[in-house]
Amino acid sequence: MRRVTIVGGGISGLSAAYNLAKAGLGATLVERRPRLGGVIETETVEGCVLETGPDSFLAAKPWAMELIRELGLAGNVIGSNDHHRVTYVRKNGRLVRLPDGLMLMIPTKVWPLAATSLLGWRTKLRMGLEWFRRPGGAPGADQSVAGFVAEHYGSEAVDYLAEPLLAGVYGGDPNLLSVASVLPRFVELEARYGSLTKGVLHERRKAAREARGQPLFQTLKGGLGQLVAALVDQANPKSEVFHASAEALERGPGGWRIRLGGEWLETGNLVLACPAYEAGALLAGVDPDLAALLSAIPYTSSITLSLGYEKAGFSHPLNGFGFLVPKRERRRLVACTWVGTKFSYRVPDHLAVLRCFIGGGGESDEALVEIVRDELRDIMGVKETPLFTRLARWPRSMAQYTVGHRDRLARIEARAAALPGLHLAGNAYTGIGIPDCIRMGKQAAERIVSGAARPQT
Ligand SMILES: Cc1cc2nc3c(=O)[nH]c(=O)nc-3n(C[C@H](O)[C@H](O)[C@H](O)COP(=O)(O)OP(=O)(O)OC[C@H]3O[C@@H](n4cnc5c(N)ncnc54)[C@H](O)[C@@H]3O)c2cc1C
Repeated sequence: MRRVTIVGGGISGLSAAYNLAKAGLGATLVERRPRLGGVIETETVEGCVLETGPDSFLAAKPWAMELIRELGLAGNVIGSNDHHRVTYVRKNGRLVRLPDGLMLMIPTKVWPLAATSLLGWRTKLRMGLEWFRRPGGAPGADQSVAGFVAEHYGSEAVDYLAEPLLAGVYGGDPNLLSVASVLPRFVELEARYGSLTKGVLHERRKAAREARGQPLFQTLKGGLGQLVAALVDQANPKSEVFHASAEALERGPGGWRIRLGGEWLETGNLVLACPAYEAGALLAGVDPDLAALLSAIPYTSSITLSLGYEKAGFSHPLNGFGFLVPKRERRRLVACTWVGTKFSYRVPDHLAVLRCFIGGGGESDEALVEIVRDELRDIMGVKETPLFTRLARWPRSMAQYTVGHRDRLARIEARAAALPGLHLAGNAYTGIGIPDCIRMGKQAAERIVSGAARPQT
């Protein structure tokens, strides 16, 4: 019997495999795609490092950097070029600069807020008066991000700040997303200070001390594919990889039985590091209630399109990190990153790369490229023909922490705990970003290692 089987070879499953290997435990990794990394995929085209999935991780969350250091990749880490950090938001057909001093959607500087044309005077007044809100005591029932932000700053702040900023991260709808799960820090600040602005300003000095000038985002010079390659390399001596679909699960005498390509394989521990709806489908015959809870976690899909251009004569100065398109102004383009400005080493000097996030996606790749080129012409005035394009589709890839997520998660955890040897990891649970997925994979490995170390009774 195998000691551990991991279903899903994305960053969550790879982190579990690596941490098991580090503790001397072998694992069988089951991945249905022909490559490992899940949504992390780096390609190099014409000397440009193209990320078809995630491009970086938040520096404030430590687990990615910890892993990178352990893997010996610290020398390859680069930060976002924050001295060029300007983000634009489309408003009434024009690109308007996000005002300086915003912490996500919380204003911390008066003058940039007063001067911006992104918000009307009623919203600005309301944002100023938010300072006088009184603390409400312990956080109350969960509510939507849109409801929470609107209570503090009004609905225009939802439409032109919260919605576009969160669409870039979650690809989700702030009317559905849970404030307790997506913005837990803001819920705490509200309980403590009443005003979010007051809370952020009070705690900013401490945060600045902790951040010690580190950039907002970090990544690897050669792309996040380097992280996947190093993980595979270092987990490899202890792990075997099956490129197959996990088709079914059963409880077995010594743990679990898992069916791959029609054959049953026995394992003591099982890490489900695949999307929650896949875990739900696999567990349907074992615990239908757990399966239903897992399958109820919704996911959104996303498409990225990178377009490479000759820099000479390019019609836009690319003076910032890129732009966001609020839902009210959106056709298909959700966001666009000006890659060479945001990160060094990604684009040779003679080229420019625009990385676009697209909503929807029924059309062919060629039709989507034309749609995006039309919108880039309208929004940025880009008329040039790209030298190359690279489109990637990530169906049902981003878990949505909708209102009530914490309660659902508590029930999932309680039911999973009643199934010995079962471990869940992945972006459906306690964090959507790469650092959190790394943490969850590591925690699953640690639980298995500590269980394995326990004396048998
Ligand atoms: C386009 C995009 C951009 C993003 N940008 C960022 C960013 O910049 N920064 C950031 O921190 N995060 C970002 N994220 C989020 C983050 O990348 C993901 O949440 C994280 O990588 C998910 O890792 P995972 O291992 O949990 O899941 P996945 O990467 O989805 O891996 C799960 C794996 O399980 C496999 N699988 C599923 N079912 C089965 C089965 N039955 N049998 C065998 N294998 C199976 C799948 O093939 C897949 O490889 C982005 C996500 C996307 C899609």
